[in-house]
Amino acid sequence: MGSTERIKNVARRVAKWHDAGYQIVVVPSAMSGETNRLIGLAKEIMEQPDPRELDMLASTGEQVSVALLSMALHAVGKEAVSYAGWQVAIRTDSAYTKARIQSIDDAKVRKDLDAGKIVIITGFQGVDGDGNIATLGRGGSDTSAVAIAVAMKAQECQIYTDVDGVYTTDPRVVSDARLLKTVTFEEMLEMASLGSKVLQIRSVEFAGNYKMPTRVLSSLTDPMIPLEEEAASGTLISFEEDTHMEQAAITGIAFNRDEAKITVLGVPDKPGIAYQILGPIADANIEVDMIIQNQSVDGKTDFTFTVPRGDHAKSMEVLKSVKEHIGAVSIAGDAKVSKVSVVGVGMRSHVGIASQMFRTLSEEGINILMISTSEIKISVLIDEKYMELAVRALHKAFDLEKA
Ligand code: ASP
Ligand code: MG
Repeated sequence: MGSTERIKNVARRVAKWHDAGYQIVVVPSAMSGETNRLIGLAKEIMEQPDPRELDMLASTGEQVSVALLSMALHAVGKEAVSYAGWQVAIRTDSAYTKARIQSIDDAKVRKDLDAGKIVIITGFQGVDGDGNIATLGRGGSDTSAVAIAVAMKAQECQIYTDVDGVYTTDPRVVSDARLLKTVTFEEMLEMASLGSKVLQIRSVEFAGNYKMPTRVLSSLTDPMIPLEEEAASGTLISFEEDTHMEQAAITGIAFNRDEAKITVLGVPDKPGIAYQILGPIADANIEVDMIIQNQSVDGKTDFTFTVPRGDHAKSMEVLKSVKEHIGAVSIAGDAKVSKVSVVGVGMRSHVGIASQMFRTLSEEGINILMISTSEIKISVLIDEKYMELAVRALHKAFDLEKA
């Protein structure tokens, strides 16, 4: 919601659904840019603000949204009531700035709904056991919405966002990327973890664990479009048993531009070496993704792994400090690598997906640095400068533009 005009539009859309007889809980995010603005203010005061205070601050963005939306609903003649997460209460743990929801008390909300009210609850936040406000991490309103839908046993959780659904890949990279009518929860989880930024990963996990049908749809359409049309728009995250047997091999291509690769060269090949290398990395709170260890030659091996690019410098520092202890010859880093992944539950029943992927990349002269696979995805690490080329070539090779 970028302006009060947009908030009035949301109110019209919500009123339309309410008029059709639905009970509705709305979970707004902060107004566009507001969370960044608040965090920016904190950074003007100090570089590393206390996480509890940061949450106290960042959570206010949503409080503005819920109150304004409630007023906008009153203005169109609806009964509505807004709550901050702590008032509901949405209980979280105390991991400030990345808290997890533990429970939601639905009693008050249910009472309001039964009284005919539209209930509006702040996204992105809850309250810990000691009464402190805790936020769920950037993009956390998605998770709030799904968790509240689960607590309310909703028919569907609709996530209105600034894209009109989930595409086969980012349409900014491939112009004929296609909107998917459905995507399975597992595919969505892979795509979210592999860099697609449509939904917060945690929200997809919630949807999957509780089998909450979740739909991603556009907030930019005319709020008064017919309800049936809106209800069928966007992308429904489904559960595999519901989808057709006729699955295409690949559903989508995800990519993450900002990866970095680190190689520890000439380490002794003996028990405990992976632990000695990755232990200090984990202690520094750095998330490791792909890992390979080479065949050893003369009792020595090379160990390579990837980290988010933002953690590259820190990882190099950590390793330099333990290099002697590990007995490594040297450490090499490359912060200009990207990961491209093909994803699809269809992989389970189609053979040859990996070879088709590798052939396509070889035809484009793209060198593969690392490979990792799961049951429904194949990822390759490549030089950053070939990323878009790789995505376009793969999109074409797997006919993703065709329905
Ligand atoms: N307002 C929060 C953020 O910008 C939560 C959200 O948008 O989902 O990260
Ligand atoms: Mg968001």
